[in-house]
Amino acid sequence: MASIVYVYQNQLQNLIDNNIQETNGVAFEWKGEEVFHVYTQYPEISPSGSPSVCMYRFFEEEKALNECKPLFEQESLRYYNAQNDFNSSIIGIYFCITDNVLLKKGFIRNREGIKDIDIKFVPNKSDLYSRSKGLLETDILEKKHVLIIGLGSFGSQIAVELAKAGVGNFSLIDFDRVELHNIARHICGVNELGRLKTNAVSDAIKLKNPYANTEKTDIDITTNQTLLEEHIKKTDLVICATDNNQSRFLINDLAVKHKRTVLFGRAITRAEGGDVFRLRPEGPCYCCLIGNNWFNTQEEISNLERARETGSIPAYVSENDANAIVQVGLSSDIAPIYNMMVKLSLVELSRDLQSGIASLEEELTFDYYIWANRREKFYDNWGSFNGAGNMPTIMKWYGVKLTKDEECLSCNKSR
Ligand SMILES: [Zn+2]
Repeated sequence: MASIVYVYQNQLQNLIDNNIQETNGVAFEWKGEEVFHVYTQYPEISPSGSPSVCMYRFFEEEKALNECKPLFEQESLRYYNAQNDFNSSIIGIYFCITDNVLLKKGFIRNREGIKDIDIKFVPNKSDLYSRSKGLLETDILEKKHVLIIGLGSFGSQIAVELAKAGVGNFSLIDFDRVELHNIARHICGVNELGRLKTNAVSDAIKLKNPYANTEKTDIDITTNQTLLEEHIKKTDLVICATDNNQSRFLINDLAVKHKRTVLFGRAITRAEGGDVFRLRPEGPCYCCLIGNNWFNTQEEISNLERARETGSIPAYVSENDANAIVQVGLSSDIAPIYNMMVKLSLVELSRDLQSGIASLEEELTFDYYIWANRREKFYDNWGSFNGAGNMPTIMKWYGVKLTKDEECLSCNKSR
């Protein structure tokens, strides 16, 4: 099998535009798979794989391109060193443009000798949205701007889902770093431990859409409301994925003031269930909801420290037992909840746009959605998934229409 080598079209275009005929780059290889990605400039997202040398050359004439193999045989020896892992694979890629057509050839030298390679392209921005050759299927959400506050298990997953759907602009707010206890439910892996969540999630977005714009702010919003307000003012949709009511109320107040749509989502203790609330301009607000909501004292327990803080775990419970309590909230339990937030986001972002998802728009008309994962505690009188007649059952969504609370401290204009 020929080695597969991916070239980033925008980097190649850059060389052509600047009339650079000869340069070296770096290739990243998945060892044992003979798959390489080559770069002439430092990539925006850290590449994966092991590094090796790559040579780029442009020829004026097609004849030179057709006869370039001896050149590679000779030039590759300059870098090749079978004893040194970094230099044990050398890639050469050669181009020529005749009659506006890009012609290409490529070779690899490794311990097995010299072989032809198969050059493929990662498209540049103009080809990004194309079902047959692009990365993303549609450009209708390219201009949309989503603000995500809280980049934990919910926020990080939602960010990447929206990137996949073609959302082009993100503002990301979180002051935390990726830690061990996040990994199981987070979009980021162990190789990103210690990174700011804003940076790590921005990279995860760009792995799906390399041309998405991401603005990163690592602040605690409760200590910098002015900055939060600036962000809320310029966005089409706010995702509130924080883990405490103080920040939710703050976001609610500012969104009511600036008439922005917000999706609030959370899992309740141990991810037994969760809920999603949609605030729309002029509609009932988060404060109206909490006033008549039977879950209002529940908070997501995302780690042990938080469980202790909120008093969900009595002080006498041992560390091991406490860990067991927290760990029950597994990724599969929160997935339905953040997925609902993604669906609601897409409904909101594509409302009134051509090829929007009108059928879902007719379906998802409620302000408030409730989901139960297990028949424990809060849901112990709910039926089982397969046979509860007309009773509420677990593993189904329930929608609730809310009315504005006339006494609401946040959205009642006459206060
Ligand atoms: Zn209200």
